[in-house]
Amino acid sequence: MKRYENKVAFITGGNSGIGKAAAILIAREGAKVVIADLKEDAETLQEVAQEGTEVKFIACDVSKPEDLERAIKETVSLFGSLDIALNNAGIVDTTPIHEKSVDEWHRVLNVNLSGVFYGMKYQLEQMRKQASGGSIVNMGSIMSQVVNFGIGAYASSKHGLVGLTKVAALENATHNIRVNAIGPGYIETPLLMDNSSSGLEQRTYMESKHPMKRLGRPEEIAKAFLFLASDDASFCTGVYLPVDGGYLIE
Ligand code: NAD
Repeated sequence: MKRYENKVAFITGGNSGIGKAAAILIAREGAKVVIADLKEDAETLQEVAQEGTEVKFIACDVSKPEDLERAIKETVSLFGSLDIALNNAGIVDTTPIHEKSVDEWHRVLNVNLSGVFYGMKYQLEQMRKQASGGSIVNMGSIMSQVVNFGIGAYASSKHGLVGLTKVAALENATHNIRVNAIGPGYIETPLLMDNSSSGLEQRTYMESKHPMKRLGRPEEIAKAFLFLASDDASFCTGVYLPVDGGYLIE
């Protein structure tokens, strides 16, 4: 029997990068998968379906609570339960605080932090109704612990996400629901590559920040998700797990 057989996994931002890798790997281990993202991506759906499980796309903007409420309800009516949630959708800002528009601040906070709150609100409501409970993983960042220039909104959202994760873990620890967070280092995805000034120099700089002297791969984060979401992590809750090639050591 596969590790996630008969489990239903709900993944926000599952069309790209880390979320897509997570969708593929959890499907490979038997889970039925819901990808909640802004627009349907036929190629992603095909890649997940190739793993031999059921996959559905639900259009969802995580900055809108009504979208998450509807998406969770739809997931349960499609597949009968919600066992695993990965709150992963995220965006980044790039301007220093004195130049940042109020709109940019709210845009990033609404997706990265409020989006995780909205997600957990409806996921927990469902999981608390199920005798089987559930497991939630929130996508933090090394920027949940340290900071860099230009990402005042991103770093605030990711620091906040860890606090929110811990409160959710505490409130649900006796309800058979575990809530954990992952802190990726720099991972080679569209989010990173589209927002970095391109070129070898920038890449070498990012690589040099990790003691392993390379960027991470989306699958390396997805594997940490598979661990935290599974019964292998049955005594882990409220954990912030860095997966960062040693970035936070120094
Ligand atoms: P990505 O840009 O490759 O994928 C993000 C996905 O989220 C996209 O499919 C996008 O459509 C979706 N999305 C964006 N806004 C959304 C919204 N409002 N509602 C629903 N979906 C939305 O990014 P990624 O690098 O895979 O990042 C995934 C997560 O990992 C993010 O939370 C990010 O902060 C975090 N992270 C990434 C890195 C990195 O270096 N790539 C490092 C640390 C943490």
